[in-house]
Amino acid sequence: MLEIGTNAHPSPHSNARYILLAKQKVLTLQQQFLFTLSDFHPTAQMRSVFVGQFEGQDLFVCYFPHSPKGFEEVGLRDMLFSTDETYFGVLSRAHQLATWDADHQFCGRCGNPMTQKHDKEHAKLCQHCNTRHYPRISPCIIVSVRKGKQLLLARSFIMPEGRYSNIAGFVEAGETLEQAVQREVFEEVGVHIKNLEYRGSQPWSFPHQLMVGYFAEYDSGELCPAPDEIAEAGWWDYDDLPNIPNPASISGQLILAHADIIANESA
Ligand SMILES: [Zn+2]
Repeated sequence: MLEIGTNAHPSPHSNARYILLAKQKVLTLQQQFLFTLSDFHPTAQMRSVFVGQFEGQDLFVCYFPHSPKGFEEVGLRDMLFSTDETYFGVLSRAHQLATWDADHQFCGRCGNPMTQKHDKEHAKLCQHCNTRHYPRISPCIIVSVRKGKQLLLARSFIMPEGRYSNIAGFVEAGETLEQAVQREVFEEVGVHIKNLEYRGSQPWSFPHQLMVGYFAEYDSGELCPAPDEIAEAGWWDYDDLPNIPNPASISGQLILAHADIIANESA
């Protein structure tokens, strides 16, 4: 298990393990992605961030502008479907911390270089204006909507034809999670929903979302897909679902769990 902990953050050392990234890709060797310092050559352009303790050892993420020779590059999304949940959680955290480090090299308030990291938490303190910068985490809601024995599924223009998913979207400033669920469903497909039920969450490092999953029930309105966003939307029988997201994602989990509940009611 990964321990995030609150002890002082160490600097990279020879008894630690390393996750390597380049150009948003995970670097692997024979499907392994945890390395020791002797497995690669640190370069001047490489940056590193402490991730936590994993299996009793300090873990760092190092990222390079270009992939060092000999490594394979694998997309983080592909790792989600080929790695178990624990390992994916570790990769996901490493990727988010590397993104934060790369995106906060200068203070967003005064523009000075950010050279000082907090020694016990993931925060950078601007020495010029004292602003603290933490890793960005962007809450997003995702909801499986039910109408009788049917589930609402939609396809956005960025999804391939024949592939359907739940309604999802970013939480706006000043909004509750529940307001975001209601708003997104109405904006994307034009219906009102009721009886929201929280079902769980999943960090989604593409690049820094936290997906917050809900069930809801249809209340009123006719399906009317948002013309600039949703290519098609419809109600699907729980036992005749189309191509849906992989169950490693919360989207796939919500749909399958909702269909399962309806199946049990119908039995
Ligand atoms: Zn500043």
